[in-house]
Amino acid sequence: MELDRQPVRSEYRLNEDNELRLEIGNEDVIVELVEGVAEVFGTPLAVHKRYTFPPGFRCSIFTYQGALVEIIGKTESAYIATQTPMAIYLNTHYGLEMHRQIALKKLAMGDLTARGPRILLTGPMDVGKSTVSRILLNYAIRFGHTPIYVDLDPGQGQISIPGTVSALLVCKPADIVENFDRTSTLAFSLGSTSPALNIEYYKHLIQTVANLVDEKCAFSPRINASGVVINTCGWIKDSGYHALLVASKAFKVDIVVVLDNELLFNNFKKDLPNFVKIVHEPKSGGVEVRSTAQRAASRNRCIQNYFYGTKHSPFHPFTIEFSYAKSEEEQELYIARVGTDKLPDSCLPFGMTVEDHRTKVVRVSIDSSLKDKVLALMPANAAIDQSLISTPAIGFIVITDVDVEKKTFTILSPQPQPLPTRLALYTDVSFIDDS
Ligand code: ATP
Repeated sequence: MELDRQPVRSEYRLNEDNELRLEIGNEDVIVELVEGVAEVFGTPLAVHKRYTFPPGFRCSIFTYQGALVEIIGKTESAYIATQTPMAIYLNTHYGLEMHRQIALKKLAMGDLTARGPRILLTGPMDVGKSTVSRILLNYAIRFGHTPIYVDLDPGQGQISIPGTVSALLVCKPADIVENFDRTSTLAFSLGSTSPALNIEYYKHLIQTVANLVDEKCAFSPRINASGVVINTCGWIKDSGYHALLVASKAFKVDIVVVLDNELLFNNFKKDLPNFVKIVHEPKSGGVEVRSTAQRAASRNRCIQNYFYGTKHSPFHPFTIEFSYAKSEEEQELYIARVGTDKLPDSCLPFGMTVEDHRTKVVRVSIDSSLKDKVLALMPANAAIDQSLISTPAIGFIVITDVDVEKKTFTILSPQPQPLPTRLALYTDVSFIDDS
């Protein structure tokens, strides 16, 4: 006889400035704010609304005033933390808010160039950079602003897929589970999840995004006054550190928040100009420290969600087969890449420097090594030339199979045939579609 299994129900009473840290196991868990006021990384929870937290989800439910939270289902872990750095992050928000109010006053007096705060969050891996970015953006929205979020971390892809550098105008608070609405994200494909594989191109993309942010701010004084929040990757040594200095300069940041790492804080003090305020803040004890395998799984989940959506809003991608036996002009989809192998100096064309090969755009011939690779779709009017290194992607596909005998390849695409373009950019990001 089947026993009627009742879901596990637990109640957590949170006092002022406490947070309930949750790790969801293999099953969905229902969360309800029964009374009080609470938020998840800056997004308020509605009272008596039932939220479904999916498997693998990690978050904290924080309260400034006190709250009662009910959890239905079995969590991997759930505990109340009484020590959190949220008061420090809130203070940072108030610092940014003062800056915004000054910009808005100047704007009201006719100064159309009044600029809000530009803050860069940095620190080693797993210190909560993305989470603090999200909190600060959510607070900015709740105070009536529309900041720009820049994600310079190609490792995880907060607002696009992994392997990109991206920017998003944030107009509403992040969804508790799905994070920010990504529909208007501008994403540039770096071609890999590690900037170290092509640091020249990474720095070029940093400058490209910074120029676009400046253009957007020049176009809208309101956005300019709201400021920019820049999330970075955890590579803080050698060329990684140099790329952070490049980013600080390119985005003309006013504030750098260093999470957790004192050496990095001191290095910035030495290397950044005096007008940049550098602050050192603690990481939250709740931040998950992820193994390489967990990072890879999270990347895969992110790409999976791009094509298939989530359980609550599923997408239905298309499988399309193309022939590559046709002539170059007739091919329905052809592929370029950024970066070629290094040529000896003597073989370089006149005027080309050794670094140029890293950002040189070349055509890629199709072979079985492309199987499972993610490709970035370029706009319909794009051609294989150097302009591709400054062109945002219009979407992503995956090559799921290459048949070298029949000279065909198969792709997974969010859109049906015909694709909106014939040109895609190679990436070495892999996605194995086992759905
Ligand atoms: P990366 O090394 O990829 O740059 P990061 O420094 O940006 O990582 P986050 O992505 O912000 O770190 O945090 C890592 C994980 O820890 C995320 O899953 C996030 O949801 C979780 N996390 C962050 N803060 C808390 C908290 N206070 N309680 C519970 N989980 C948290």
